[in-house]
Parts: sequence; structure tokens; C-alpha cells
Amino acid sequence: MIGAMVNCIQCGAALTADDVGLHKKLVNRGATEYCCPACLASHFHLEEIRLREMAERFRAQGCPLFGPKP
Ligand SMILES: [Zn+2]
Repeated sequence: MIGAMVNCIQCGAALTADDVGLHKKLVNRGATEYCCPACLASHFHLEEIRLREMAERFRAQGCPLFGPKP
């Protein structure tokens, strides 16, 4: 992921490694196109803050999709 510029396929927002990790975790581990947390949240009818909390929980569990906090 390092150096690769990735954008949301729905709204075009620039994505962080965490955003990509969330998409992989929640949608498809093998995904090659990703949505930003805001678009994922509306897809799952969740609040974006819930996705942020999930990312923190996965990170705390040592999930390899979520690296150390930048
Ligand atoms: Zn988006």
C-alpha cells in the first residue's frame, strides 16, 4: 500500500491504509477497488464513527490489515 494512491470508487476520496483495511475486512479481503469509510458507512447503514471504532478494535487485536497508527 505504501506509495500507492488509492481512491474511493464511489466518491473519489483519497483513502488511507486504514480505509483500505476496513473495506477488505468488511467487504472482501481480496478486493482491488475500495470505498471510503463514509461510503462504506452508508452502504452498511452505519455511522462512520462506528467504522473508525472497528478499525481501532481490529488494530488492537493485531489484525495485519491495520498497521501501526501513522
Ligand atoms: Zn467514498
